[in-house]
Amino acid sequence: MDATQLEWAIPIFAFGDEGTALRKTNAMVLGWEPILGQGTQLNVDDGVHEGEDWLQLLNFVGSTWRTRLLYACMHSKVYRKKPDRLEALMTEWAADLHRLQREGLRVQYGAGEVTVRLICLGFKGDLPALRKCGNLTRHFLRETVPHGPGMCHLCMANTSCCPAWHTWDWTETLGDDVFLPPFAAGQESAMTRDIHGGLAKARFWLPDPFHTFHKGVHAELAGSAIVVLLDFNYYEGGKFEDRLLRVHHDLADFAKNSKPKNWFKGADTTIVLKWLHLKFLEVCMDHPSSDYLQEICKCLERSNAFFSLLYRSKLWLSKREGRAAKNAGLEMLAAYKRCAAFAHDLGVPRFKLQPKLHFAMHIVLSLKEMPCLNVLAHACQQNEDFINKISWLCRRVSQQNLHKNVLLQYLVSVAQHW
Ligand SMILES: [Zn+2]
Repeated sequence: MDATQLEWAIPIFAFGDEGTALRKTNAMVLGWEPILGQGTQLNVDDGVHEGEDWLQLLNFVGSTWRTRLLYACMHSKVYRKKPDRLEALMTEWAADLHRLQREGLRVQYGAGEVTVRLICLGFKGDLPALRKCGNLTRHFLRETVPHGPGMCHLCMANTSCCPAWHTWDWTETLGDDVFLPPFAAGQESAMTRDIHGGLAKARFWLPDPFHTFHKGVHAELAGSAIVVLLDFNYYEGGKFEDRLLRVHHDLADFAKNSKPKNWFKGADTTIVLKWLHLKFLEVCMDHPSSDYLQEICKCLERSNAFFSLLYRSKLWLSKREGRAAKNAGLEMLAAYKRCAAFAHDLGVPRFKLQPKLHFAMHIVLSLKEMPCLNVLAHACQQNEDFINKISWLCRRVSQQNLHKNVLLQYLVSVAQHW
């Protein structure tokens, strides 16, 4: 592709996930988004974008009716027992995307016409969606002790050549002599057929920082840290249920005066971690010799620093930002593992090492690459919101000709919100 063709090229991510359709069934919602957007709410609060149109910002702000676009939806009854039907839809989508990249689309611009090309650089989704849409043979459900077929499509962790997945040994498995593509022969998704190299094909399927951290490692960190507060009698006296109620009231008071206020289910973890850090600063003052508490406090502080830095940054991180984010992420992960080791030595079930921790390691390590893309570009908070809207349409329209009805209602909704 030459420079004139790139002038009107729009980089996009595809995404997909299952939403809840009628009577607790599911529907796969597939869509796409421009990677460039109007930044994050923190950028807006900081006034970053004012008067600087040339800035390349993340796509977090604005109604998802306008910032995300629907490609298709498919009810799970269609593909649950026949996954080849979902695969056929993905193949059609891949053909459309390849055509949009190769030939582009003629659109009116001012008095003339230009050819706009969409360049799809990856597919975002939670781990189950990546597995289903990418036909991945190595995925989180394959985690086996001591090793098996592999639990990560991005490396050879948990296979015979690298049984461990929670250490950094997997970084040695990314060479051509060891790394194998994460799909069966002849079963590769059409989405990546034009990409050269097994590792590059695997990296098209992007793990989502939102599910990996907010709903994964950080949710476990928050839950475990609250239990440790109770272990150390921060809330003294009364039954366990009463003490939990005091945690709730304390946290609710803190949340009333905290940002962000307009997030949906991702906000809880962010606010709880900020609150917990203040609590552990207090507890550490009372127990200055406890390495366990100091380590939890450090993990909380590094977690907050990591995301605060990313949410304040633009689409591309400067060298200094990339280094600071990577260091905060590495220190956060190291502190979390030390917390897990302390809990293990104490014989208490806290700070569980779950497969999402492995994907968190991949996300943090990707920050060492230059130019350094802000990993929040791969996050699915906004996509979750969009998928919830399409799922709501799935439940609202007549179930006869469901797919067609959803697409028609979608067009009406977009027209209402544009
Ligand atoms: Zn891996």
